Amino acid sequence: MDDGSVVAVAPSIDPPAGATVLDASGCLVTPGLVDLHVHLRQPGGEEAETVETGSRGAALGGFTAVVAMPNTTPAQDDVEVIRAVRRWAAEADLCDVHPSAAITVGRAGERLVDFVALHAAGVRIFTDDGNEVADAALMRAAFEACLPLPGAVLGQHAECASLVCDGHLHEGAVSAALGLGGRPAAAEEITVARDLALLRLTGGRLHVLHASCATTAALVRAAKAEGLRVTMEVTPQHLVLTDAACAAGDPTFKVNPPLRPGSDVDALRLALADGTVDAIATDHAPHAPHTKARPFADAPPGMLGLETAVGVALTTVVGGGHASLETVLGALSWRPARIAGMTDQGRPVAPGEPANLCVIDPEARWKVDAAMMASRSRNSPFAGWDLRGRVRHTLRRGEPVVLDGTAQR
Ligand SMILES: [Zn+2]
Repeated sequence: MDDGSVVAVAPSIDPPAGATVLDASGCLVTPGLVDLHVHLRQPGGEEAETVETGSRGAALGGFTAVVAMPNTTPAQDDVEVIRAVRRWAAEADLCDVHPSAAITVGRAGERLVDFVALHAAGVRIFTDDGNEVADAALMRAAFEACLPLPGAVLGQHAECASLVCDGHLHEGAVSAALGLGGRPAAAEEITVARDLALLRLTGGRLHVLHASCATTAALVRAAKAEGLRVTMEVTPQHLVLTDAACAAGDPTFKVNPPLRPGSDVDALRLALADGTVDAIATDHAPHAPHTKARPFADAPPGMLGLETAVGVALTTVVGGGHASLETVLGALSWRPARIAGMTDQGRPVAPGEPANLCVIDPEARWKVDAAMMASRSRNSPFAGWDLRGRVRHTLRRGEPVVLDGTAQR
């Protein structure tokens, strides 16, 4: 590697004198992973995570670039906050952090942000994540405002707000047994269907965040066949866990959109395998332990994901025969890089390309220990799981930021 680029790819290379040699025997050398959906919590939520601790977790998970969600305090809705997040990321110097920006001022759903100024500042993904944009006319105006801005895409947290306002988990047998209000799958279906209709109306571009149900997969599959400009992501947890995980009332398994029944999980796996799903994104959502220790109804929704994504995906999705290794790596790297317009990420491992790389030992066996994570929080739904497949090294522009599973700063 030279100047942060790959110089040569060969079975055997004589390293020049003084070169650092990394052991990648038995490993996959892949383009660095790209996560379109992480919550780094800074500014305002530093008790749960910072840009630095989140960047370290990302690097340990094999990610060389992440998109930071805007539900900070204050919200990432103007250029000043975007610049602050970039500055913290540059100081941490562990992972490329691309801040997204809100669609509406303060994520309040009332008034659109200054798309032109934010786009000029480099923002490409706009989302009110955590909230949907409930007002259809406002969402239409947002699609139209982004039309002239190259690469701009609207990410929707698709849960019809009025249908989920009293809900804590998927509406079904488990929510009934717990005596808690539910969040029906119909809430997601309604918002996705509405936004696809708005795409048809405006010609805009939509990215469906953390899709959780079979109907979303079917709607997006049909919309792609029709030629609408839509992409979708799923999280590892929605590909692996069902709402049965909530049966004991453990708030670790509380997340929005909620974990769904097995029939939805099966449909999402099929959608990943057939290419309808574009990206696996973690929705890494740290919460300080004392907040997640509350009763299910009072605990905040969200799960950690950055440090377990590769292990969970390889063990359960690839290992379970639900999708090929190449499909999973594509959904973790080059396809999300294209959605976010990252021209230096998700590139082929080839001479002249930026050396943003991830070295994965597909046979490494390990047990998830939340206490050992780089995150400031501990709310991993995979704690105690035995996984097969682990990130050994992460290289950012040729520099090892993770070496033998250890962050270098
Ligand atoms: Zn969300």
